[in-house]
Amino acid sequence: MILVLKRGATTDQVNYILSKIEQAGLKPHISEGADVTIIGCIGHEAAVKVFFGEAEALPGVDKAIRISKPYKLASKEIGKERTVIKVGNVEIGGNNIVVIAGPCAVETLENVTEIAENIKAAGATVLRGGAFKPRTSPYTFQGLGEEGLKYLSEARKKTGLLVATEVMDPRDLDLVCDYADIVQIGARNMQNFRLLQEVGKVKKPVILKRGLCSTIQEFLMSAEYIMSNGNEDVILCERGIRTYETSTRNTLDLSAVPVIKRLSHLPVIVDPSHAAGIWYYVEPLALGAIAVGADGLMIEVHPVPEKAYSDGAQSLKYDTFSEMIRKTKQVAEAIGRSI
Ligand code: PEP
Ligand code: MN
Repeated sequence: MILVLKRGATTDQVNYILSKIEQAGLKPHISEGADVTIIGCIGHEAAVKVFFGEAEALPGVDKAIRISKPYKLASKEIGKERTVIKVGNVEIGGNNIVVIAGPCAVETLENVTEIAENIKAAGATVLRGGAFKPRTSPYTFQGLGEEGLKYLSEARKKTGLLVATEVMDPRDLDLVCDYADIVQIGARNMQNFRLLQEVGKVKKPVILKRGLCSTIQEFLMSAEYIMSNGNEDVILCERGIRTYETSTRNTLDLSAVPVIKRLSHLPVIVDPSHAAGIWYYVEPLALGAIAVGADGLMIEVHPVPEKAYSDGAQSLKYDTFSEMIRKTKQVAEAIGRSI
């Protein structure tokens, strides 16, 4: 439920309202707009239902509105049009479209540093690379662990790029947070609720990737798990879903972008690499993603894709990556945005 306050509600009235929300067993969430202040009341359905009756009668409250969606903080109904997440000097969710790029897995210091330098030259501002890899087979490369995180950190020092990297297990969360600017939850863990709760307690923005077989509502419910634990800096990433189509690794659900933007204020980025699974579909899908309103792209890049430890088939070489960025800039400009 949200409480829309009367214009000119006094500080005493606001404090009284906040105390009443807490007494009702709910958590208040204040958004101060230019004209009106809105207070979200978050908690169990039953407690909201009981409090709804008295809420509208509180001094300073103009009206009480129930949030119809099962996700609350992630919903636009909370009274927020758009969230812009600031990380270092990068803004995600604003007019500028962010480019996150890098290898699937961190392989060597030299490799990740060289990739970082090249993606930066092409226009990326965030370096991605997995040190903990969610692999289908336990016999394939699982990532370098902390060593990989150190390499990412070295590459950041050299290039000034921000670092985004995946965490798979709550036991590694503190370690990953020591090195990462942005923490990533992979598709396979989108419904690992304990992990989501733990990530909800850290002070780093989170890229939450859509689960392989998840609906948009389930995706937003997972964002809600993170947000309801205190971390509201969630970046949603559409990365393709499983369908009966086998021409591509997954089917990129481009409609998810406008759908989510209608339902939620959170930034939405698109990862065409994991969706396509094949490098030559990455560029057209990236252009489409910008056209439908994505706030960012996540792209896998490798200098010698055939030698990559993982996901070589979908990785772009430097020249194709930089050509892709050149074209995405044109699409961005056509819709009044920039890259
Ligand atoms: C990744 O981004 O490294 C990754 C494993 O992607 P996903 O979780 O989308 O499969
Ligand atoms: Mn990958």
